[in-house]
Amino acid sequence: MMFGVSALIVYDSGVMAALMRVYGEGYKDFLEAIRRPGSRLYARVNTLLISVDEIVERLRSRGVEVYRDEQLAEAIYFPIQGPFQVEELDKRIVVDKYAAESIYMGANVYAPGVISCEGVSKGDEVIVVAEDGTPLANAIAVVDCEDIAVRRVRRGVVAETTRSVYRAPKIRELPEYVNGYLYPQSLPAMYVTHVLDPKPGELVIDTCAAPGGKTSHIIEYTGGRSYVIAFDHSKKRLEEMRENLRRLHEDSLAEIWQADSRYLHIDFSWLKADKIVVDPPCSSLGVRPKIIDRKSYTDVETLSKYQLQFLKSAIKVLKPGGVLVYSTCTVTVEENEEIIEKIAEMEKCIDVVEIPCERCSRGVPGFRYSQMFARFHPHIHDTTGYFIAKIVKRC
Ligand code: SAH
Repeated sequence: MMFGVSALIVYDSGVMAALMRVYGEGYKDFLEAIRRPGSRLYARVNTLLISVDEIVERLRSRGVEVYRDEQLAEAIYFPIQGPFQVEELDKRIVVDKYAAESIYMGANVYAPGVISCEGVSKGDEVIVVAEDGTPLANAIAVVDCEDIAVRRVRRGVVAETTRSVYRAPKIRELPEYVNGYLYPQSLPAMYVTHVLDPKPGELVIDTCAAPGGKTSHIIEYTGGRSYVIAFDHSKKRLEEMRENLRRLHEDSLAEIWQADSRYLHIDFSWLKADKIVVDPPCSSLGVRPKIIDRKSYTDVETLSKYQLQFLKSAIKVLKPGGVLVYSTCTVTVEENEEIIEKIAEMEKCIDVVEIPCERCSRGVPGFRYSQMFARFHPHIHDTTGYFIAKIVKRC
């Protein structure tokens, strides 16, 4: 049976049971929280290129509201405003999932995201909605719908957003982003590199690296003085990663290799890393805001098998004394606590060690290493839902 959290967020009974296992009755608060953004939009400052004070000053001088994070020195955030009421209008543009989530946050409407726009002419005021009718924004059309419909207009802005439900600076349109000074990244994701604590001279491997959020953080954290190998199996995502590293002026500071990271111990058996990050594909239940999502328990099961494979291989290419950090942007115990418990049972030479945790919770109680983990909960910590575990290889 499928449960409609909203018309476009649909989880089956297995996923709902998995959420209850984590949150009990609190699962309702969790589901409510992931449908809206948190109150802060975070970005990391590329400290290889600019100081945090300098960038804050530049942004503020143009009237952008921005603050330094209270704890992480390289983190800045933009307050997210909203929710605002958008006006119900006769003319409407219906957009797809990916467009919906960014328009909801204030982005303009681009041609590829449009599903329908019947009767809309250039200059019209419109309401932009998701496929289930969820209002996202009001906008002014800058082209005729006909031109979009017959694909005369294939790319570029088709409507300029005037009022969206939530509002935050469009980081990717800031000159600071274009110049490589900023990388949009959630606060919990930034903690991963701090937990890993890579040092200059060390060999650091990122097994599921694209589009490069953690890889670039590792490079910056070590001042570009560690040896970084970033693996991913997706050619398209590796291209995106190369583009990101170029923008950050870090493309000469990491090796980017295409590989199936479930088999690193076979294909790259000569590798012996000091530090490894495993940030595998996951059910992404912690990612917000969500307008559209559809997951079944089979997805969770398939992903958890995959995640264990990445870990098994990574442990084999880790040096004795080396550190591995495992992270996901999801909340199920199947993809988090249980994965670590399984690997600890299989590998006799590893210790699961405690992560300092001031702004997060511990793991779901009842697991052997619950007290070692860091968990971030959307409805409690006002962040993305996130899990981090740290493993040390003894021998
Ligand atoms: N660590 C990244 C995000 C990783 S998302 C960041 O911080 O920016 C998970 C990644 O795993 C995706 O890029 C996906 O292409 C990759 N992936 C999936 N299966 C893989 C496999 N078998 N081998 C290597 N990478 C894989």
